[in-house]
Amino acid sequence: MTLGTPAPPLLLLSGVRALDPASNLDGEVDVVIEHGVISRIGPGAITAELRAVPGARVLSGRHLLVTPAFVDLHAHLREPGQEYKEDIRSGLSAAAKGGFAHVCAMPNTRPVNDTRSITEAMIAKARELLGPTLHPIGAITMGQKGSELTEMADLKDAGAVGVSDDGRCVTSSAVMRRALEYAKTFDLTVIQHAEDHALTEGAQMHEGAISTRLGLRGWPRVAEDIIVARDVLLAEATGARYHVAHVSSLGSVRILREAKSRGLRVTAEVTPHHLTLTDAAVIGYDTACKVNPPLREQADVDALREALADGTIDAVATDHAPHSTLEKDCEFAEASPGMIGLELVVPVLFGLVSSGKLPLARLIDALTRAPARIAAIESPALREGRRAEICVIDTERRFTVRREEIRSKSLNTPFLGKTFTGAVALTMANGLIVHDMGGGSPEKL
Ligand SMILES: [Zn+2]
Repeated sequence: MTLGTPAPPLLLLSGVRALDPASNLDGEVDVVIEHGVISRIGPGAITAELRAVPGARVLSGRHLLVTPAFVDLHAHLREPGQEYKEDIRSGLSAAAKGGFAHVCAMPNTRPVNDTRSITEAMIAKARELLGPTLHPIGAITMGQKGSELTEMADLKDAGAVGVSDDGRCVTSSAVMRRALEYAKTFDLTVIQHAEDHALTEGAQMHEGAISTRLGLRGWPRVAEDIIVARDVLLAEATGARYHVAHVSSLGSVRILREAKSRGLRVTAEVTPHHLTLTDAAVIGYDTACKVNPPLREQADVDALREALADGTIDAVATDHAPHSTLEKDCEFAEASPGMIGLELVVPVLFGLVSSGKLPLARLIDALTRAPARIAAIESPALREGRRAEICVIDTERRFTVRREEIRSKSLNTPFLGKTFTGAVALTMANGLIVHDMGGGSPEKL
């Protein structure tokens, strides 16, 4: 079975709030979608004639927020090689539920995506599903071993939208310099997992008062800051496009802000969990809260929120990292780092919006246009004539996260059992409906 189904001939979004920072659109409008194509947007766009068309589906109400569908720069879909944790189908299904029409998949699969053939196979598999579009990210170095560069021209030609050794840091300055120079010739963004491994050996969590209290070895902020600082200098020297994955520390934010003030081609992303949780979440030794980079302190969280709000951090990315009970139902020290994230972006981050800590328009930009620009893919947009790639959010829906409703194959999230307000009611990708909470009336939404 495919993930996407054809939209009804006529889908009418009546009296909804439409928000698309790229189109300077924010207001109460009607949206008309005919055979999967946005045909009209504007107040009064839905006429009595349209409403009377047999089979027309109507979703209406001011509590519905319509935005361009989201773009995730950073997900681990585990296929090929670790399909017991996730596969392309389950990962894209989770993405659709989360409001995503585009997902960039990290290359730390088994084998590593360091060649054209693996990139092509991933894309072909995803295409058959008719769901969100999969954009592979190729490795920077063969086998992510940190020394021999991949054939980036081949990877790009096959469809890769960037290169990264995510999970591992390119620690050698010489290799990183060559990677940036090489990637620049193909205009590929180099995405760094910034971690000086020599400083984080055996680390279990953020280094601070709580790691001392728990007796767990710490991952100091400076291990991230050192790499970001060095890479900014290398990006400046080479003129290449450089992107920092999952920024977690206030020091990185400071370095990025300075780099951007000088007009360097440097971008960054932050995860929903680094924006909302601190190292205090680790106190109960919940392995779902073991992530890499680790959850840090409130001062870091505050700096990350501020940086996202002012654009120093460009994008929100999930770092969706599924692990099975084998890797998570164990001693904290033995557990693999990572949490799933594709399905809960809206509920987790809308809390920040409703408490006034993040402007809604900036959040939507950080989930749509900004990541699309970094990956050089065409951003979903609320524009007439475009094939519908939209997300309809029910801003008033209250729900509790239940394991039986998780679409990912893995359940490693600390948000199980938590109650949120705001849920994705409908996602369209490439003109098809890929997620639908059902119903045509506001009551059912
Ligand atoms: Zn990473």
